[in-house]
Order: sequence, then C-alpha cells, then structure tokens
Amino acid sequence: MNTSSLRGIYKLPVAERIARLEEGGWLDADTAARLRDGHHVVSVGAADRMIENVIGVFGLPFAVAPNFVVNGRECVVPLVVEEPSIVAGLSSAASLAKRSGGFEVENAGSLLIGQVHVTGMADPDHAISAVENAKSELLAAANAVHPRLVERGGGARDIELRLFALPDGSPLLAVHVLVDTRDAMGANLVNSICEAIAPDIAAVCEGEVALRILSNLADRSLFAARARFALDAEVSAAIALANDIALVDPYRAATHNKGVMNGVDAVAVATGNDWRAIEAGAHAFAAAAGHYRALTRWTVADNGDLLGEITIPLKVGTVGGTLSSNPAAALGLALTGAQSAEELAGVMAAVGLAQNFAALRALATSGIQAGHMKLHARSVAAAAGASGEQFDQVVKELVASGEIKDWKAREILADVQGAKTEEPDGSAAGKVILLGEHGVVYGRHALALPIPDAVHVRLTATDALSHKLPEKYVKRLLAELGVEDTNWHIDVASRLPFGKGLGSSAAVAVATARAFNAKLGLGLDVAAINAVAYEVEKLAHGTPSGIDNTLATYAAPMLFRNAGGLQYDALDLAEAPPILVAWGDETGRTDEQVAGVRKRHAQATAHFDAIFDEMDRLSRDGADLLVAGQWQELGALMNLCHGLLNGIGVSTPALERMVSLARQAGATGAKLTGAGGGGSIVALCPGTIDEVREALRQGGYNTL
Ligand code: NAD
Repeated sequence: MNTSSLRGIYKLPVAERIARLEEGGWLDADTAARLRDGHHVVSVGAADRMIENVIGVFGLPFAVAPNFVVNGRECVVPLVVEEPSIVAGLSSAASLAKRSGGFEVENAGSLLIGQVHVTGMADPDHAISAVENAKSELLAAANAVHPRLVERGGGARDIELRLFALPDGSPLLAVHVLVDTRDAMGANLVNSICEAIAPDIAAVCEGEVALRILSNLADRSLFAARARFALDAEVSAAIALANDIALVDPYRAATHNKGVMNGVDAVAVATGNDWRAIEAGAHAFAAAAGHYRALTRWTVADNGDLLGEITIPLKVGTVGGTLSSNPAAALGLALTGAQSAEELAGVMAAVGLAQNFAALRALATSGIQAGHMKLHARSVAAAAGASGEQFDQVVKELVASGEIKDWKAREILADVQGAKTEEPDGSAAGKVILLGEHGVVYGRHALALPIPDAVHVRLTATDALSHKLPEKYVKRLLAELGVEDTNWHIDVASRLPFGKGLGSSAAVAVATARAFNAKLGLGLDVAAINAVAYEVEKLAHGTPSGIDNTLATYAAPMLFRNAGGLQYDALDLAEAPPILVAWGDETGRTDEQVAGVRKRHAQATAHFDAIFDEMDRLSRDGADLLVAGQWQELGALMNLCHGLLNGIGVSTPALERMVSLARQAGATGAKLTGAGGGGSIVALCPGTIDEVREALRQGGYNTL
C-alpha cells in the first residue's frame, strides 16, 4: 500500500512535489506530466460548453494534504482553495490522527431525497393514505425513469410523507422519494424522477403539484467520522470547551462550521463536486435540532486524549456532473483513490473533522493569527518580488513589522537589496553561456553574456582573517595576490546562486582580488586580476576553460574559444537581450559533467566531434544575431543547442521541465546553461519576460 506520509513535501518546489507524488504511486507518469505542464486545467472551449457567457477560466491553487488514513486506507487528499493555512492545518491534524490509527468513518446508506410538493388537496388525511396505498406503483414508476440506475443496483427505495400548513392555513404535502443514486450525486437523476411521477402523485392526492425537485438537506446520506488525538490534557479540555461553546452559541457555531467546510469544500472543488449543494446540506443539518449548532463533538478521554466526531450530510459523486469535462477534477478524484461516492464522502467527513481540529487547536493554543500571518507574509513577499536568499529575510521582517502589506514588503525588499549594494571594495560579474558549452572544452567557440555587478566584496580590518568562503580557496587567492597582511574580514554579497552554472566562484574570486588590490594598493591591472582568478578557479573546476573568470573580470558579452590559450572577442550589442535565468534545487558539478562527456566522446568520437562542430557554428552565427538583436533567430539557435546538449547527456528531467515551461510561456529560445547535470537554464524572452518569469516561479523555480 502507498504511504500517505510524504515527509518534507512542504519544503519542495512544486515540480519536485509532483515528482514525489509520482514516486509514491499517487500519480501516474502521464498525469504527473500533465500537472507539470499545466495541461490538466479545463480548456476555455470546455468551459464555454459548461456554463453561459464564458470569457475564460479562473485559476485557484491545487494542493495535497498528506498523512490521511481513512478506515485503514492511506490517502493523499486533493484540495483546491485560496486561503492560506488550510492545507498545512489539515496535514498536521491528519499526521497526529494517524498516530492513533487515523479516521474511522461510518454511514447508514446514502440516499438522495426528491420532493414533490402537493397543494389544493380537499382532504389531506385521505391524500396521505392514498399515497401510502399507491407506494409500490409510484416506486415502480420512479424506477422506470432510469432503468440503467436500477441495473447498477440503485433506484427509488421508499416514499415518505410530511404534512405542513402554508401561511394561509391551507395544507401542503411534501412527498419524499428516497433514491439510491449509486456513485452519482444524483441531482439530475432525482429531478427527472420527481418530474416523471409528480402527475401521478397529484392524481392520487387529488391535489396540484407545486414543486418537484431534490432536497439538498441530504440527511439520508449522513457520514460520521471519528478520530483520537493524543494531546496534552489541558489542550484537549480547551478544545472540548471551544466545541461546547459552538453547541450553544449560533454566532460561534457559524465560524466553527465554516472551519469544517474549509476542508470539505476544498475536497469538493478538487473532485468536481457541487460544493454549494454540500454547504446547503451541512448548514441546514446543523440547524435541524431547532437551533444552529456545531457539526462536531469533542470530548476528553480518561487518559486526556481528545476524541472527535463529526456527523455531516454528504451526497457527492464520483461520476457525472463536471467530472468528464474538467480534467483537473478527474485528476483530483483519482488522487483520493476513492472507488465509490461513499468512499469519497468518507474522506470528506474525515477532512471536515481534521480541519475543525486544526482550527480549534490553533485557537486553543497559540492563537490562529500567528500561523496565518506567516503564510500570508510569504505570499505578500513573493508578490513584492522577493526571491532567492532575500525571500526568508523579507518574510521575517514583514512578520516582525506587524504590517503585512504590499508597500511594507517592497520597502523591506528595497532595504535588503540596498544593504547589498553599499559601495563595495571589489565587484565582479557572473556569466551565462548562451551557446556552445561543452564544445568549448574541445576548442570550439562559445557565446556568453555577463550578469553585471553580481558579486560585491567588502573588506574590514580585524585582528584575524575571517570569512564564510572555503578555506583553501581563500588561501590560494591570498597566495596568488602575494598578500601577507591577512587580518581582514571578507564580506561577500552575491546575487548569484552557488553551484548553478552562473560563474559564482569565479565572480567571488575576481571581486575579492579587486577588493584586496584596492585596499592594499597592489597595483594589479585587469589582466593580472583575471590571471589570479584563473588560478583560483583551478581549485574549483580542475581544468577550467577560463571563461568564467574572464567574464567575471571584463563583464562584457563575448565570443570566445580556448585553443591552447583563451581567445575572446568582446561584442558590442545594439540592445540588451531580454534574458531570464532560472534554477531549481538541483546542483550540477562541472567536473563530473565534463568527465562524463569526455567518456562518451571517447566512445563515439567522430559523432561527438560533429556535434561540437555544430555547436561552434551555432555560437559564431549566434554572436552575429546577438549583436544585431535578432531575437527570434537567436532563440531558434538556443533551442538547437539545447537539443545537442541533451544529446550529449548533460540535461536532466528538472532542466527539461524548466526549458519546456519557459518555451510554453513564450520564450523564443530556452536551454540549459553551463555544465548541466542540474543548475540553471537561460531563456530569451522578447516581450514575454514577465510571463516566463511567472510560469517558472509558479513551477517553483528561482529566477534572475
Ligand atoms: P448527471 O446528470 O451527470 O448524472 C449522472 C450520470 O452518470 C447518469 O447518466 C448515470 O446514468 C451515470 N452513471 C454512470 N455510472 C454511474 C454509477 N456508478 N452510479 C450512478 N450513475 C452512474 O449527475 P447527477 O449526479 O445526476 O447530478 C449532479 C449535477 O447536478 C451536479 O453537477 C450539480 O451541480 C447539478 N445540480 C444540482 C442541483 C442541486 O444540488 N440542487 C440541482 C440541479 C443540478
């Protein structure tokens, strides 16, 4: 059996969460690929066939809550909801419940009530006995409406009667037809039954049909879920008290039940069910005793554990409705693993109880607001443009400020960025290879762009050398520079991620060399700085091509090659290229990738050489296109180069995903950049940079 404990899934980027679900057996490869590519979403055409006056489709976050065990079955629960904290609350409640065996759910059948309302009866008592007498004929007529439903084991089961007086005193008979709709929610099935048998009922009652439609007070489809939570007795008592309050105070009960429905509705939407029907039923049932009250009961066991129970009407479907037209709903339903509508309703009942537990525990302990605010701060920080290393700092300061507002996030972000841009003692550029990586190791040309002003270094005099860089790296640098006075603190501020193929180590070497050159008046010229950095690079990359340190030093677009010595032509561009760089968690090791290619090159030398020749041509032609600003054509060459890099075995599924997201969002060219095996991609996005950035961020990737 698959385990629903997807430990640490909340820390992963979106693409890797999907991979975890695939590995765990919760998604098949096709579904995972559709999710990754965003192809699971209902199309505008399909939406146009669902309702009237469609102008588009509306997105909502689609998430999963792990850790659920319902009647002994592990399940991952799909949730579609825009409110922060619900998913986290559910995951943690389910995990705690799992330790005591999970959720037990029971139901005594699942029937939907169809109503035929009859008025104008001269003798209501006679009408009641006439309907009782005609019951079997009426049920037979009802079952003749949907023979397929009867074949599936469903159909009309019973007829019940309720007599009312209308406000003018005249009698109203509500004739209830109880229908087993099997795996369908059943609204249309039952409505058509009501419409078909209403004339017979009116005739039997000697009255007139007023209305004929299902009831959403689905109290013949009640689901009871129970769970035990091992808690501190004091917390258990506080939760039980919170529940008691919601049993007597309807104002509190409304908020209490809203929490329950936070979970139930999110599953309903994710599985294509009619959440308005479920809401209507739940609240009507909550008021059935005569006053509106909590749907749950919480009590404290003798050992201090908390015992929870919910009873809720849930008439849901695993067939029908929008399930066949909305691929996201079908995906959500498949994730639940539910084999029947009753099993799905059981999961929803468990989710309702779990969500109520999460809300009450937060209320009874630390207060619901703190957790909420942290999650809210994360979305505000992201919207303000915080990313990478700055993200956590902006979130932290935002929460501390108590002003979780967009303007505040922007202010904090500006401060954080400002702190990094304080006048440095030395600075250097990062690099992004546009065309020709790996070919360059075999003497072919490559084309690269600088990432200007990417690393800043400041030196402060102290009484001992201090820094956060690798020790041997600093030692070599100081030796190459001939620095003897080492009582300095080296402070590095970098906007480059480390190990993502963006030349971060060379940029740090160049910026640090420049800082010492300036502080100590070493009198080194640019070429000497470049040479020092090249020596240090050998520590990081074994036999580097020299491109990283050259770009870091000269910070200019370049076409270069290393044929027994680095040769480069700095390029003068007509306009800055619309470039976006993106990376995920995967890190590639240049030395390993170069060694891998070397091995494969030895196995098929002539073919690999032909590829390197083609890379050479792409780089040289690409340089002309770059200078002229011909982005469409340059993009096409980048795509070709990516194909070749994939061909020589340096791409990864994560890089392919990023490339495909970028191209789908409108990049004219997208390819891996650097050695591969992880790291970054570069995308050329004339006029689409915002769309591509957004698509990559939504995929869980960082962008620059
Ligand atoms: P439906 O109209 O799609 O009917 C279900 C279909 O599935 C039937 O044709 C049935 O024959 C078929 N089916 C296949 N396999 C089945 C199985 N194993 N068990 C049962 N049926 C099976 O859907 P529905 O459930 O009758 O109606 C639900 C829809 O009605 C929802 O979209 C809802 O929004 C809407 N609706 C709701 C209300 C309300 O709640 N007040 C009113 C009107 C319409």
